Amino acid sequence: RSKKSLDSTAIPDDLTIAQFILDTPARPDPNRPVRGPDAQTWLIQDGTGRCIGVDELMRRTYGLANAMNLKYGISDEDVVLLFSKNHVDFPVVIWAAHRLGAVVSPANPSFTASELRYQLERTNATLMFVYPDVDTVAVALEAAKQMNIPAERIVLLDAKTLGSAVTHVDFARVEDLVQAGLKAHRSFTEYRIARGGAKDKAALLCFSSGTTGRPKAVAISHYAFIANLMQFVVHNEVNESYYNGSKVIVPWDSEKRRFRVGDVCLGVLPSYHIYGLLMNLHFNLYAGLSVVVVPTFKYMDMLASIERYRVTHLMLVPPQTVLLCKHPATAAYRTALDRIRFLLMGAAPVSREITDQLVKVLPNAQIGQGYGMTETCTGVCMFPVSQKTGTSGSAGQLMPGCIARVAKPDGTLASANEPGELFVSTPGMAIGYYGDEEATRETFLDGWVRTGDEVVINENTEVWVIDRLKEIMKVNGFQVAPAELEGCILDHPFVADCCVVGVPDAYSGEIPLAFVVLAESACSNHNADVAQDIMQHVAKNKVAYKHLKGGVEFVDSIPKNPSGKLLRRVLREKARSLKAA
Ligand code: ATP
Ligand code: MG
Repeated sequence: RSKKSLDSTAIPDDLTIAQFILDTPARPDPNRPVRGPDAQTWLIQDGTGRCIGVDELMRRTYGLANAMNLKYGISDEDVVLLFSKNHVDFPVVIWAAHRLGAVVSPANPSFTASELRYQLERTNATLMFVYPDVDTVAVALEAAKQMNIPAERIVLLDAKTLGSAVTHVDFARVEDLVQAGLKAHRSFTEYRIARGGAKDKAALLCFSSGTTGRPKAVAISHYAFIANLMQFVVHNEVNESYYNGSKVIVPWDSEKRRFRVGDVCLGVLPSYHIYGLLMNLHFNLYAGLSVVVVPTFKYMDMLASIERYRVTHLMLVPPQTVLLCKHPATAAYRTALDRIRFLLMGAAPVSREITDQLVKVLPNAQIGQGYGMTETCTGVCMFPVSQKTGTSGSAGQLMPGCIARVAKPDGTLASANEPGELFVSTPGMAIGYYGDEEATRETFLDGWVRTGDEVVINENTEVWVIDRLKEIMKVNGFQVAPAELEGCILDHPFVADCCVVGVPDAYSGEIPLAFVVLAESACSNHNADVAQDIMQHVAKNKVAYKHLKGGVEFVDSIPKNPSGKLLRRVLREKARSLKAA
């Protein structure tokens, strides 16, 4: 059970996400633990530098809601699909839909037409909001055609001109809808939820990352999303123990706070994924921070934006933090990186080795991990607020309101420091998998979410994620977590990136093989020597059964999905075919 408590009666169970974020007036009361965006909170479009404040966001939300209702008849029966990179109107579309009681399903903007079609089918969406890139629009058109959705029901996020490939369609634009909606008479009554109803009312159909198989449609209620925001807020209150045990609520602008009004967070995580949507976007706004809205991640651009917008807070996925440690360009941004006060990493394992390197890259930052999954709306763990850095390699401490159960393979409960599968109970729990009762029954068990992750929890409710249960190798009967070996290999100066898989072996059952992307610094060396060197590095640091008996294979890149997770299943296939050849 989490160390900090969350008063569950304080979680509103009758508000939509839009109402929670936009309609709670700015509260400069220093004694309130929560606030909401205020006059100093901005969404800043990366590249153009266009800033949108809260009043403008509210106005746009109202205008768009009115037009969506007038023009498309959107109501609480509808699902709206949002196929977009990060954009200042991304949350406006979501909140406008919520004002009408509609559900929003965000989709990965790099999907192909058949992947998008799958999401349209699963969600029965009837209206699509699309990022105005030629490629994205072409995919949306194709998928819409296959689903018999007329092109008139595709709305583009801004008024940019498109290339000739799609100009034959006269698309509707968010900007025009907003203006039309503001001019027209109010056509809708705000969707309201009865007391207690927010737990069953879906707000979002978010898809899981598809790391282990096909992405799953997770129905997230308004309550779960708001509860998770509040869990983060309470967690990030300066720890009571910080003040000799007397509970002190620190004013919002105090130096002591982790998140302060006037801080700027880089918004580079994709908003279509729950980590980006909840943490990077909604949490920051709710905590009164400004967010730099970054449509596409490119490392060099990211460094430039950190400098240009005087960014103080980063929320990243592990591959991005590896670049911070390993990319030769990082050094030129010393001054800008010294300004960073906070770095949160999550969505996949982060090794002790990388964390230790990050401490040097970001000397003034609190650095640590969070852990969560789409099924829990993200936040289950986050690194303790009272520490400068989270315990290196730990996924953080259980969040307020979370209860964890760790089950050993025989089904009995593990005690502190014993490994097992994590089950969590949290107010952020999703409703279930949309339209899939069987899958829901397997994962959502009577108030508990089965995570499929192997973890260890200590007495201090700190969690270590060993790996996904499915990924763990059995070598000579011993368990070996690929993530642990990857951390060790990444510590080698010649390694830019890596992925470890198990390959079948007649004697040991399975043996670890590493796919490695070489760093520039390794180029002048002979590959065979480097492979030897990497194997010796692992041999020096790990017990015998963890050694790279399967060898080292060099590749140009490691396949990852956009939420920053290794697609180990792809390389496992590759390893098997290599061994068979
Ligand atoms: P799918 O369920 O579709 O196969 P997915 O599980 O990757 O994909 P998400 O819901 O985005 O989809 O991710 C949740 C998973 O991410 C967790 O179950 C866990 O395996 C992993 N994860 C998240 N945070 C961490 C972390 N800090 N350390 C290790 N793993 C993490
Ligand atoms: Mg999953």
